[in-house]
Amino acid sequence: MTYDHNNIFAKILRKEIPCDLVDENRHALAFNDISPRAPLHVLIIPKKAYINFKEFISFAERDEIIQFYQLINKIIIEKKLDENGYRIIVNSGRDGNQEVQHLHFHLLAGKNLGLMIS
Ligand code: AMP
Repeated sequence: MTYDHNNIFAKILRKEIPCDLVDENRHALAFNDISPRAPLHVLIIPKKAYINFKEFISFAERDEIIQFYQLINKIIIEKKLDENGYRIIVNSGRDGNQEVQHLHFHLLAGKNLGLMIS
């Protein structure tokens, strides 16, 4: 599968469409999900073009991976999510019901999230 440069998150990265920015660093961008499933629902994406988790971990530079995880952790710390807890979800491929073909981590918090999210 090749990366589709017209996916919605690629357009956000090129600033062709807006996003509700939460934070960013050199290698990652965090913005609010347009259709939140929890009081806090942030998407964190790498700035370079990776379709899914396997592509990212296989091909990204070490610094990209570190900065990606650091951005997630910064949000967890700044929003004090450790106090009541949170969930991180990464959907991949058909069976994972991945809708947007650019890697994104869902960070959810602000209510009891139940046993699973659909
Ligand atoms: P997934 O099913 O894991 O691919 O999730 C894709 C997520 O992207 C969904 O939760 C959507 O609500 C979200 N989404 C789609 N378009 C946008 C957008 N323009 N800005 C923010 N979030 C979006």
